[in-house]
Parts: sequence; C-alpha cells; structure tokens
Amino acid sequence: MSNRRKLNPPPEVRAYSAAYRCSDCTSTIGKTYRDEFGVWHIAIEHDETCPVLTGTTDPFADVVNAARGLAVGVVVGQVRL
Ligand SMILES: [Zn+2]
Repeated sequence: MSNRRKLNPPPEVRAYSAAYRCSDCTSTIGKTYRDEFGVWHIAIEHDETCPVLTGTTDPFADVVNAARGLAVGVVVGQVRL
C-alpha cells in the first residue's frame, strides 16, 4: 500500500486551512488527506445549526477569502457527518 496519503499537506493547503473562517459559525478544520489522484481534501466542520449545512447560505465568499493569494484550486462540497 502506498504511503502517499500519509504525506504532510503542502504549505498552500496548510495556509488555506489556517485561513478558512465560516461567516456563520465557529467552524473547525477536520481531517485533511490526499486521495489516490493527488487531490487534497480538507474537511470543514461546521456547527450543527450552520446554514451552510442546510444550503441556506453559500460558503463561496469564505472559500474565496481563504484561497486569496494562494496557488490553490478549490472544490466545495458538503458532507453531513
Ligand atoms: Zn459554518
């Protein structure tokens, strides 16, 4: 089995995680890992009542703010834990 998933995230991924702030709750950063295609995944854990989880609020502005100035591409998806 490859150990690629165990690599530490590159600086841009760590910077994005450190910069991300949900406008609607006190979100925290959950699991961060690289998949078999080399794409890094960062779980943003929102509060249970956060409107982002229900789709009432779009997190686009928060995503853009966190990625500002970084050489990263971001895909957003919500997963209910
Ligand atoms: Zn939130």
